[in-house]
Amino acid sequence: MIKDYQQQKTLRDGYDFCIIGAGPAGITLALRLAAAGWNVMLAEGGGHEYSPHSQGLYQCTSTGLELYAEETRLRYLGGTSNHWAGRCRPFTPSDFAIAPPGDLPGWPIPYSEIEGYLAAAMEIVDLPSGAAFHAMNTGLSGGEFEPDRFLLSPPTRFAQKYATALNETAGLDVFINCNCVDLEFDKASGQVMAAVVSDYDRHRQRVQARHFILATGAIENARQLLNSETLLAAGIVDKQGLTGCCFMEHLNIDMGTFILKSDQDKEMRQYYTTDAFVAEYQAGKGNVTAALLSDVQTYGRTAEVKHFLENLACDMGVASKIEFFAKFSCPGDGVIGTMIEQFPNRQSRISLLDEKDELGVAKVNVNWALSDTDRHTIKCIGTELAKQFADMDLGYVKLNDFVYDTSVPLKMAPHAHHMGTTRMAASPEFGVVDADCKVFGTQNLYIAGSSIFAKGGASNPTMPLLQFAVRLADHLNEKLKSATGATV
Ligand SMILES: Cc1cc2nc3c(=O)[nH]c(=O)nc-3n(C[C@H](O)[C@H](O)[C@H](O)COP(=O)(O)OP(=O)(O)OC[C@H]3O[C@@H](n4cnc5c(N)ncnc54)[C@H](O)[C@@H]3O)c2cc1C
Repeated sequence: MIKDYQQQKTLRDGYDFCIIGAGPAGITLALRLAAAGWNVMLAEGGGHEYSPHSQGLYQCTSTGLELYAEETRLRYLGGTSNHWAGRCRPFTPSDFAIAPPGDLPGWPIPYSEIEGYLAAAMEIVDLPSGAAFHAMNTGLSGGEFEPDRFLLSPPTRFAQKYATALNETAGLDVFINCNCVDLEFDKASGQVMAAVVSDYDRHRQRVQARHFILATGAIENARQLLNSETLLAAGIVDKQGLTGCCFMEHLNIDMGTFILKSDQDKEMRQYYTTDAFVAEYQAGKGNVTAALLSDVQTYGRTAEVKHFLENLACDMGVASKIEFFAKFSCPGDGVIGTMIEQFPNRQSRISLLDEKDELGVAKVNVNWALSDTDRHTIKCIGTELAKQFADMDLGYVKLNDFVYDTSVPLKMAPHAHHMGTTRMAASPEFGVVDADCKVFGTQNLYIAGSSIFAKGGASNPTMPLLQFAVRLADHLNEKLKSATGATV
């Protein structure tokens, strides 16, 4: 049943599970755990629709690269699935097998741990059962780039698709306008005793449950942990430690332009780095999209430039002409877009500000920062792609200078794939959650969503985070069954 917490504060005395955040991760967990027979509360901070009031609670500052963190996330029922694009590409074994450069380890589990949950995750986002992630085109011959493989979800809007289930699943209480503002931790027992929730008039209540799951997205998951005075006092969370660290995005780099050599092959092409590329260059993975600006003309730029010269105003100086041609794009030119892996680094992080939001929760600053290893990845992908185009006589690539010259400031944008702020590791020295997504040092606090990613790879994050959510639901179901002897 979906209830509005602003009007109706009818919490049960205790739940088996309290899940915070009703985006793809939270909704998936809530429905599966309730369907298994448990009493579940799903607390969603926003309402049924977008509201500036709720969205305003995502306000944060930035000291790093521009992330657009307030615009790209959505704070209402269904979360950011209300405007995701639906592109799905699964992780592969090498994402889990290869450690990132530097002192941080990669995943503490093999890919086989989540592979079995792919079919369930595909079904959740309406991908046809058993469909193969098919190639969109042929690869490039050098062995560095294979054709990208992905499927497109409709895209699934979780609030709409699962509205009936959220309303009618027995044992499930969904409260909208119900904001988590604190987690109360008891050091002696190692248990979170309650999640404190608030309506928009700052009326607070304690939600008691056996287990708590944070599913509020990568920035807010870290923010919730960092805001809990009791977790800080118990040493579970350290403001200077790993909670909030290793924030990762997928890098959206405009590599440059290309001109096709002939008017053949004018379809958009999508390539993906091979494992051989990663091994040879000790670089991250990446997707490269080569798309024409509009219908190709043979040597489109040349034709356009000729046309332009015929009409050139004579008073234009030589320097400005050169600059004009350097930046000039025209029909027949193509642009090269990317989605590139960022490696985890400790400087890229979420940290608390002194300023509080209207519900009394400290706001955060996001310092999204790249490392030299990321510049290396960008350079290797750009230069190898340009070489491949030339070797295969496909056409000419003009790379932007910041791609191959790492002293030139990078121009790029984010992809709105927030990851890594509560990373999974084998020990608290290197992460925030263990292999079961449980926060180190606690008995009953779990995290869902891409904040647990130890490495981001270059796969779109939503389907993989759903694989982890289904895995977590199975794990918690089994755990609670054996603890209570329940036969649900
Ligand atoms: C424009 C755009 C396009 C995208 N396209 C793709 C794509 O093609 N493929 C892909 O894989 N991914 C894509 N993504 C990313 C995708 O949307 C996210 O990976 C996904 O939504 C994350 O799910 P989540 O449940 O972890 O978090 P969210 O969807 O962010 O949900 C978090 C929920 O928690 C709630 N919440 C927050 N704070 C509180 C609180 N204190 N108390 C209670 N509730 C709270 C929020 O209101 C929200 O409902 C895209 C994102 C954007 C912005």
